[in-house]
Amino acid sequence: MYNFNAGPSILPRTVFEQAAQAILNFNNTGLSILELGHRTDTFQAVMNEAIALVKELMHLDADHEVLFLHGGASTQFFQVPMNLLNENEIAAYTDTDIWGAKAIKEARLFGHVEVVGSSKEANYSYLPKQLVVPKTAKYLHITSNNTIYGTQWQDMNPFYETGVPIVADMSSDILSRTLDFNKFDLIYAGAQKNVGAAGVNLVVVNKNILGKVDRKLPVMMDYRNHIENGSMLNTPPVFAVYVCMLTLRWLKEQGGVPAIEKINDQKAALLYSTIDKLPIFKGTAAVEDRSKMNVTFVMDDAALEKEFLALCKENGMVGVKGYRTIGGFRASLYNAMPLEGVQALTALMNDFAQRKG
Ligand SMILES: *Cc1c(COP(=O)(O)O)cnc(C)c1O
Repeated sequence: MYNFNAGPSILPRTVFEQAAQAILNFNNTGLSILELGHRTDTFQAVMNEAIALVKELMHLDADHEVLFLHGGASTQFFQVPMNLLNENEIAAYTDTDIWGAKAIKEARLFGHVEVVGSSKEANYSYLPKQLVVPKTAKYLHITSNNTIYGTQWQDMNPFYETGVPIVADMSSDILSRTLDFNKFDLIYAGAQKNVGAAGVNLVVVNKNILGKVDRKLPVMMDYRNHIENGSMLNTPPVFAVYVCMLTLRWLKEQGGVPAIEKINDQKAALLYSTIDKLPIFKGTAAVEDRSKMNVTFVMDDAALEKEFLALCKENGMVGVKGYRTIGGFRASLYNAMPLEGVQALTALMNDFAQRKG
């Protein structure tokens, strides 16, 4: 089967096998990873390796700390402004998807939000360019890849040039393409899309931007406490961190981010060229902003859409249905999706178009 779900989503087969084994007998300890104390040397080694792999794969400098936190990306929507924004200060936000809009709503609880670009009026089908970001903004928040609408910022240079600290929700494209990750002051990602199992967030933060807000923070909400305690301030989501570590190891074995990016490019090129070639299918995102992770497309005829979805299912391709607000189809091509999966999907599309066209 090929799983095109947007999240939780496909992970490498070897990760599933190793994770399954670890539940029965973790590294020949005779214990399940599920019953292992998080303060044991055995688990500490897992956490250390996961953190080290993130630093290595992202080429992080010494100022950037790696954290594994609870609460999903949705917790970062408020933890970010809580730590970075005073009530009388401004943060700049881009409104490019339902996720970005949620982040904006949460930030407004803590300070002033200036929406510097929005494509909401066009059903988020493109990315607003030429953003004017106030120099006084404490940070600029972007969603690097818009999971629901299938857009992705291709050129980060305009953000770097603002001179304002950049915060990025990279939930659905982290570690999928080469970026200068050190240019970001805070990156967060729910693990369940490209890094591992649901239940943990990967957060990369430049420690120099912390400790500048006036408000008192709950212990669990202050990033500095997590840094100090090596993501073990309380019981971490042990199994979810382990699955991340295995997935990061797998990524390193593939040749790291540049190697996976090459395959991701091939997968996206194949699927988009198929959509563009076949008049029965239509891409929904502006061509220049097309996401390489989540490919959204529709048909004009709702009955035909249903028929194609059924055909996908029959042929072992799941998760191709689009999000409810956009309809049609969404195929997620995360790192673990092999090129063969996209070849199978496009073969089905070609066949369907030929029969119906
Ligand atoms: C899935 C997703 C989220 C929400 O993640 P949770 O871990 O469920 O809170 C936030 N932002 C983006 C871009 C996403 O794709």
